Amino acid sequence: MADVKMERFLASLGKATILVVDDQPTNIQIIYHILGDSYQVLMATSGAQALQVCRDSAPDLVLLDVMMPDMDGLQTCQAMKADETIAAIPVIFVTGLQKQEEEDACWQAGAVDFIQKPVNANTLLHRVKAHLTLKRQTDFLHSLAYVDGLTGIFNRRFLDSTLEKQIAIGKRQKQREISVLMIDIDHFKLFNDQFGHLAGDEALRKVAETLEQGCLRPNDIVARYGGEEFVVILPNTDRQGADKVAAKLLKAITELAIPHPTTEHGIVTISIGGATSPYDEASKEAITALADKQLYAAKQSGRNCFRQAEML
Ligand code: GH3
Ligand code: MG
Ligand code: MG
Repeated sequence: MADVKMERFLASLGKATILVVDDQPTNIQIIYHILGDSYQVLMATSGAQALQVCRDSAPDLVLLDVMMPDMDGLQTCQAMKADETIAAIPVIFVTGLQKQEEEDACWQAGAVDFIQKPVNANTLLHRVKAHLTLKRQTDFLHSLAYVDGLTGIFNRRFLDSTLEKQIAIGKRQKQREISVLMIDIDHFKLFNDQFGHLAGDEALRKVAETLEQGCLRPNDIVARYGGEEFVVILPNTDRQGADKVAAKLLKAITELAIPHPTTEHGIVTISIGGATSPYDEASKEAITALADKQLYAAKQSGRNCFRQAEML
């Protein structure tokens, strides 16, 4: 079971991305010739540029030259390890340095390995493969802690950590607004009472799957908040955008047409509360609280509907 999940996880990742950092473009070319067929290779010619590429593209591995003008490899690696959003990316130093104290400084900066210059193609390929395998196994184990056991979508723990990150990313990229949808299944207690908890669990799985399919942008995030409640994060999305997604989700759930005879519509429906906030004003707590308040309003106005508000 775990093996199957692991394989699916690895397949979903596609080609690994490797960032090669060297102030000499010819050195980058040599490495590109060795790795370019197997991996997606990104390039940077300075430490500052390398940090930027790490933040923007989250490579799986960094091959880092030690001797560079301005910010050298050691400083670059230290800066990576001090930034928690990119600290987990493994760094292999590619170096002509020979002295023990120079090697020690690289370990201390946070390297996972060394490759000697001039680069031996076979050694490079095998080292890279070994470290990528380790990185992906670690990523997989971390991902399990963030998955809801019943529905297979992200869980509350993931939501809590990612909403804060999303707000920080949006602020940094000077995006305008973020929207959050809080979703709650209508009269779900009645559903369980009538059909039993196993049928209830099955309905929760179907609703989760449908919500996930309904959010089409790659950066949209759907998570199970708890019980029969879900949250959707819509990065870089304004009020009109949130309105469209919510309308689509309401429709998709009614089209699922899960029978729920003891309610007015005769099928399972959801209520949605939405909040939109400029990134500059956004906080995890405030936007969630506002969406929650709107969810309450949606319940009050008859369920199977969407209510939204903006933080100004
Ligand atoms: P409302 O329309 O006001 O949201 O009514 P409701 O009945 O959906 O809300 P309430 O909060 O009273 O009840 C939520 C119910 O959701 C309680 C429980 O029966 C059900 N539920 C919560 N988590 C699970 C779960 O993991 N599995 C199943 N089968 N049911 C769950
Ligand atoms: Mg509820
Ligand atoms: Mg409910």
